Amino acid sequence: MPFCPQCNVTYKETISICLDCQVDLVPQAPQTEVSEYGDWYAIESVPNELAGNILRSVLEDDAIPVYVRCHEVPYYGGVKGNAGKSEWGDILVPTNLVPRARECLKTYFDSLKEG
Ligand SMILES: [Zn+2]
Repeated sequence: MPFCPQCNVTYKETISICLDCQVDLVPQAPQTEVSEYGDWYAIESVPNELAGNILRSVLEDDAIPVYVRCHEVPYYGGVKGNAGKSEWGDILVPTNLVPRARECLKTYFDSLKEG
């Protein structure tokens, strides 16, 4: 369904302009594709790709969609760098699932301590 890029309201297929903002609606992006981070929340920073993959699988096991945002810039000044950040990247989850994701990660980290 088309939605308004300004106010994020979703409209029926027959509507092409937002009634509130008077801007053209855009087709809704597939849920797995992240075109902007407005609806995603960086719940955790990870130091490397391995940690990112682990946390992603932990969350996905709980049916929480995950997007791993990598800070790394492949050819930053000719050298593989990370855009001046000490973390490798962020774990992003949809804002409406943040409480559930926090609980899920807490359970995971607690299990690490015990084990
Ligand atoms: Zn609008």
